[in-house]
Amino acid sequence: MPIPTELVGSLPRPMKLQEAYAAYDDGSITFEELQAEQNAAAEDSIHRLEQTGEPIVTDGEQRESSFATYPITDTLAGTGLADNLAGDGQFFAIFDDGHHRQLPRLTGGPFRYKTFASEFVEKNKQIANGPVKQAVIAPSMLMLLYPLDGEIEGYSREQFLDDLCDECEKDIRKCFDAGAARVSVDFTEGRLANKNDSRNPWTGKNMLQEFIDLNNRVLDRFSPEERKNIGIHTCPGGDCDSVHSKEVPYEKLLSHMFDINAGYFLIQCSSEEDKEEVYRLCGQYSREDANGVAQVCFMGVIDPLNPEVETPEQVKNDLVTAAKHIPVERLGATDDCGFSPFSRDVKPKHGSPDFARDVAMQKISARLEGARMASEELGV
Ligand SMILES: [Zn+2]
Repeated sequence: MPIPTELVGSLPRPMKLQEAYAAYDDGSITFEELQAEQNAAAEDSIHRLEQTGEPIVTDGEQRESSFATYPITDTLAGTGLADNLAGDGQFFAIFDDGHHRQLPRLTGGPFRYKTFASEFVEKNKQIANGPVKQAVIAPSMLMLLYPLDGEIEGYSREQFLDDLCDECEKDIRKCFDAGAARVSVDFTEGRLANKNDSRNPWTGKNMLQEFIDLNNRVLDRFSPEERKNIGIHTCPGGDCDSVHSKEVPYEKLLSHMFDINAGYFLIQCSSEEDKEEVYRLCGQYSREDANGVAQVCFMGVIDPLNPEVETPEQVKNDLVTAAKHIPVERLGATDDCGFSPFSRDVKPKHGSPDFARDVAMQKISARLEGARMASEELGV
């Protein structure tokens, strides 16, 4: 079988859509008008991905406030925030360029999703000609909605985590029920968990093991057959062409991440200084048998934060090198991250989000061609 290839999920939102989000926040357009722009951008994303030959498409997350907040708010500014949440939660991350992203704060129970990702799958199935995938958020990210210290009166942390796991399980199952071929779980907080950033207290609490255990609480509710098509995505962040945790030694994460009983992993790598070391670590720690499923390592061969387009030859060379360390039947190709995980992102290094969409398609084409060339060279 040729080396499989899959995108993470997001694409830059066209400037027109970003302006529509802002207009909805300030009350100058209705939700229906915002949705019309989202639908148009989603349709354009799917058609353009299909034109590149991407085997499994997404809508580029054009209808989502962000990869992390789609279940709980309609916009990043907090319009349409779900019940029992306030806007002033923990920093999710502080990025290298100084900007930050903040989560809402849970004020009481019960915790419930207001939007499940299956809503997007249903719409995308009507547009796409082939299979669609959907990215969902990990419970380990949303556990940060609960205050870091202390308990919410009348809603214990334990009760919250029970509810959270139920909602995350439902989110994944409903995507499959709606026809998604693959569901990947965004786990960008994994590498950040070892950052020890004094400005962002949760990153100093050594939470990685807690994150992994919580994610397994959800994944272990799925059969090996189901988990073949459930992935985990890791990256050092990717927002406004900046990162949040690339300086954290990768081994701290990679030596534990494969304890998550997922069938595949979408692993940032192309922007690492020593890519071969990452292949080696993935080869060392990924498992042939993770409770009944072999773990496929989709290595990042494209950097969505850099406007320079990779060549198919570069992609091919990376994959051929990766195959020295990772069994080729457990090797895949992906991008380092989504191309724009947050809805408001002007892609500063690219000059504009509209141009960045064009660049994304060229990069995806290079990944597909490079994976094809590597498969040929490796004889698979
Ligand atoms: Zn990412």
